[in-house]
Amino acid sequence: MSISRKQALQDVLERTPRIVERPDNKISNYYGENVFNLSRMREYLTDEACDGIVDAMENHTSISRAIADQVASAMKEWAISRGATHYTHWFQPLTGATAEKHDSFITPVANGQVIEKFDGSLLVQQEPDASSFPNGGIRNTFEARGYTLWDPTSPAFVWGETLCIPTIFISYTGFALDNKTPLLKALARVDDAATSVCQYFDKNVTKVVATLGWEQEYFLVDKALHAARPDLQMTGRAIFGATPAKGQQLDDHYFGSIPARATAFMKEFELECHKLGIPVTTRHNEVAPNQFECAPVFEEANLANDHNLMLMEVLEQVARKHNFRVLLHEKPYPGLNGSGKHNNWSLGTNTGVNLLKPGNNPKTNLRFLTFFVNTLAALEKHADIVRACIASVGNDHRLGANEAPPAIISAFIGSQLSELLDALEKSIKAGKLTPEDKTALKLEIGRIPEVLLDNTDRNRTSPFAFTGNKFELRAVGSTANCAVPMTVLNTIVAEQLTDFKVAVDARIESGDKKDDAILKELQKLISQSKAIRFEGNGYSDEWVKEAKKRGLSNLKNTPEALEVFNRKEVVELFEAQGVLRKEEVAARVEVELENYILKRQIECRVLMNMSRNMILPAAVRFQSGLLANVSQLNDVLGKDAGKYSEAQVELIKKAGQLIQDLHGACDQLESLHDEAESGKTQMVNARMFAEKVVPSMEHLAGVCGALEMLVDDADWPLPKFSELLFTR
Ligand code: ADP
Ligand code: MG
Repeated sequence: MSISRKQALQDVLERTPRIVERPDNKISNYYGENVFNLSRMREYLTDEACDGIVDAMENHTSISRAIADQVASAMKEWAISRGATHYTHWFQPLTGATAEKHDSFITPVANGQVIEKFDGSLLVQQEPDASSFPNGGIRNTFEARGYTLWDPTSPAFVWGETLCIPTIFISYTGFALDNKTPLLKALARVDDAATSVCQYFDKNVTKVVATLGWEQEYFLVDKALHAARPDLQMTGRAIFGATPAKGQQLDDHYFGSIPARATAFMKEFELECHKLGIPVTTRHNEVAPNQFECAPVFEEANLANDHNLMLMEVLEQVARKHNFRVLLHEKPYPGLNGSGKHNNWSLGTNTGVNLLKPGNNPKTNLRFLTFFVNTLAALEKHADIVRACIASVGNDHRLGANEAPPAIISAFIGSQLSELLDALEKSIKAGKLTPEDKTALKLEIGRIPEVLLDNTDRNRTSPFAFTGNKFELRAVGSTANCAVPMTVLNTIVAEQLTDFKVAVDARIESGDKKDDAILKELQKLISQSKAIRFEGNGYSDEWVKEAKKRGLSNLKNTPEALEVFNRKEVVELFEAQGVLRKEEVAARVEVELENYILKRQIECRVLMNMSRNMILPAAVRFQSGLLANVSQLNDVLGKDAGKYSEAQVELIKKAGQLIQDLHGACDQLESLHDEAESGKTQMVNARMFAEKVVPSMEHLAGVCGALEMLVDDADWPLPKFSELLFTR
């Protein structure tokens, strides 16, 4: 339900911060209290059951029915003690959000009574009535049923009155219907591939995990003002609005002090996160007014991703308690900075080594270089897939909009590492390496930590930047499920490392020493992957031209980017790595396209309704007021009236022109919208939306913005950006 702007502004005046105290000053005393983690399992389970779980977590072994029963019963006891009455299999359908279907623990017994019951079979597998989740045709074609299966690598947690059990969601025939399943497969692949490459350096490495540290950006807006804007309510973004007199030009919001109501919100939000074992640590203002960011300590990628999804839910729910709404959209306000979700990524070993952190001797640095160069090579080879996996309706407004990484994928590594790679490329000669060559190389490689120490350049315009001990994928949108980019990144790196191992082994086979073989192969990869390295300003027009020369793609919108998944070699990559089958890739494209079209349709309709039913009447009222004024002046002043009504007449004409423009732009948008629904395939329709409908929407939005600047402020029906952004 919408409320009026006047009512909303009135409501805002009456707000006070909601203060919630922490149960304890020491966070560690309540951290993770709503999580059924390993230490809690040890309290509730036999050693044998615990070992079974640990084995399943670490080595992906299956869990026996007896152990599953024990775990289920312990989980239930613990969850009830934490206030839970229901349980749910918590999963990640292809829509990007999370889904759950709550069931109560109770089962009827004799005499009209009930008992709480939860056994292993309910824990391990469920059949949610989830026929309405998008599946890209997979379930229709093969088998209607979809199952959720317990993921024991991510701990169950209590949220509100529900025990949530992280699960994967697959069809009866084993096709993934979610985002977690392929992620888990990609993580297993990168583990295998990286572990075997690690064997060149350290035989003790038996496991490699991908690590993820995301940074979540979001906007807060007062609940009442949100309710007065149908576009915010239905699409998550303000489709139009005049830029406020004070925007982000002053940069005073960034790292400024956080306003009181927002601080109170953050305190409660962090409290809830900490109880859920989400290790959020940093909070600060972002570039735009009322924009904020939070980031946790990094974790194993699957867990980190579950935590991000939980966090988005916690954000929304806690925000409501504080009379705020949280905007996770990539571009909530045209003309202002949008929101992203940087994905910091690295690989860590069971021996405690970060493989993207330079060591302190030539041997560990060679290991660093190996993983560093292989990552660049993977990116160079598969840049288009990386672009495609971050494509979304909201991100289309952000990428390349001079505030976020461009749609062209490149990597920034800093000038010193660039020089080092260039030097290595030149200094490794064909044939056998002489002892002098080796000494020179060792010196070169030995300099890495020192090089990084003063590697202070922090290029913020790059979509993929090396930041000293990890890569940061910055092009991910704020609403995204990180599982999608993490699946892609880990898959392409897994493939690259596998190929690297084969190539190095072949060189060793034909007589090279191990280190020489590695160096020569790295040299080859350095030359091959040069095109992807870019140190300059990614926002500049020169880069667009330069990238074109280098043969890098610039896939400007979502449908264009999604086409990448239809390429034969892309499907083959996912199949060869065992991450996605061809049907699953195709299904994902269908779901994404459908999602894109639906969201654009909603935006169009909302914009047309607002234009016709809210803006147009306000503009006409404004013009009528002026007309009445002019005719009254005529009545009173007669022939002198002209002297005093010139401005009014100008404004009448201006309003008249904009009213015509508005009307015309609405009609044009309507017909393009209808045309974009009539294509033969989803791809055709999606492309029409991207190429024709979106520009037409932007045109109409521009007219609305111009009217906002003209019409009497008291008569304007919608909260303005200045109100949405500066209300604390
Ligand atoms: P920025 O300068 O990009 O704002 P922040 O300090 O806010 O940087 O965020 C850095 C992020 O990188 C944090 O989420 C942190 O947990 C993460 N991070 C640090 N080391 C690693 C690693 N080895 N693997 C993955 N993420 C990491
Ligand atoms: Mg960052």
